[in-house]
Amino acid sequence: MDSGETRLFKGYRIQHNNVMGPYKGGMRYHEQVSLDELKALATQMTWKCALLGVPFGGGKGGIKFNPHDHSHDELRRITRRFTHALGSNIGPAHDIPAPDMGTNSQTMVWMMDTYINTGPTYEKNDQRAVVTGKTINSGGSEGREMATGQGVVHCIKEWAREARFDLEGATAIIQGFGNVGSNAALLLSKLGVSTIATGDHSGYLRNDEGFNAHKLQDYVRVNGSIDGYPRGEKISRAEFFETKADLFVPAALENQVGEEEAMKLDVRLIAEGANGPINPRGAAVLADRGIPVIPDILANSGGVTVSYYEWVQNRNSEHWDAEEVQRRLLHMMRRAYQRTMFYAAEKKVDPRIAAYALALDSLATSYKERGIFP
Ligand code: NAD
Repeated sequence: MDSGETRLFKGYRIQHNNVMGPYKGGMRYHEQVSLDELKALATQMTWKCALLGVPFGGGKGGIKFNPHDHSHDELRRITRRFTHALGSNIGPAHDIPAPDMGTNSQTMVWMMDTYINTGPTYEKNDQRAVVTGKTINSGGSEGREMATGQGVVHCIKEWAREARFDLEGATAIIQGFGNVGSNAALLLSKLGVSTIATGDHSGYLRNDEGFNAHKLQDYVRVNGSIDGYPRGEKISRAEFFETKADLFVPAALENQVGEEEAMKLDVRLIAEGANGPINPRGAAVLADRGIPVIPDILANSGGVTVSYYEWVQNRNSEHWDAEEVQRRLLHMMRRAYQRTMFYAAEKKVDPRIAAYALALDSLATSYKERGIFP
């Protein structure tokens, strides 16, 4: 620590499945990180990559601590020490971490630098692909920072087109104003959708006129949370869930919408930016109430998709321009959305079941084709 004191942290890396390609998944820094949570999140990464047709498997990792309690230097030391401890358990053809809650492009650059500096000198530049979500300067992809929010918004646009719903003038509530939540708010505002309530670990705010997503994002970058932002009225968590709006984007933690919250929500559509934000009881209430949900493994898959593009660019020593990344992302998200909704309609199941079924189907086919060795 900056004080000279030594502290021990608990970190994890879960490797769930690699039949479709190297393990892939985020690194989470949060005080609630646990082995079971990461096992569940790693499993979802397997289904997500299989659904999108991204040639990766599923992994996830994290360190159990609150990053807001630490200085830049302490975060760097914690990240480097953990990466070194992971050693050869990660690697560009084996297991590829990425940002998740509490981590960002800076965290990824530290991980990359630590990893490549412990390998042979002649391999250094081949090893950049050990993590994705890096800064553009250090080998990241154009569009990765916004990719998850962008993917959420692509799904919302597809839904609006099919439902003949005009997004211009619509309203949204967004839980979590970090990478996913703030970029979703920004991109929605470009379509004419106002974010009228939001919240994070520090509390919740409402602004009936709609927040200026750029200004709030800048404020959070400087201050670490929405706390103290002057252009909004403080509301409780319960009031946030009661706010009438057209769209709800959960973009914070898992298990945020249980029975109680699902009863309160007064929205037309939920697009899951976060992983697992709705628990099974909440999902049952929403189904009864007829509120459609675009499931996490589809809605937030823009992040892993552009991570895959970053990995391809690193391995081929290429740098694609932003338009190229956007074009490819839109194509893959649309295809996954259409396949999921077509399957859901055909089999009369909800989109979450459809997404899981399509993912499992492709994994099962792969296992069948490969058979048992020897
Ligand atoms: P982030 O750290 O940038 O933002 C997380 C947000 O959640 C912050 O605003 C934080 O204050 C808020 N939060 C934390 N604890 C909270 C609590 N108890 N109540 C309310 N808000 C709380 O993280 P992120 O990358 O935006 O990730 C958000 C979610 O999206 C996670 O579920 C993550 O797994 C998922 N996700 C992220 C990506 C990605 O590319 N970053 C990709 C796919 C899915």
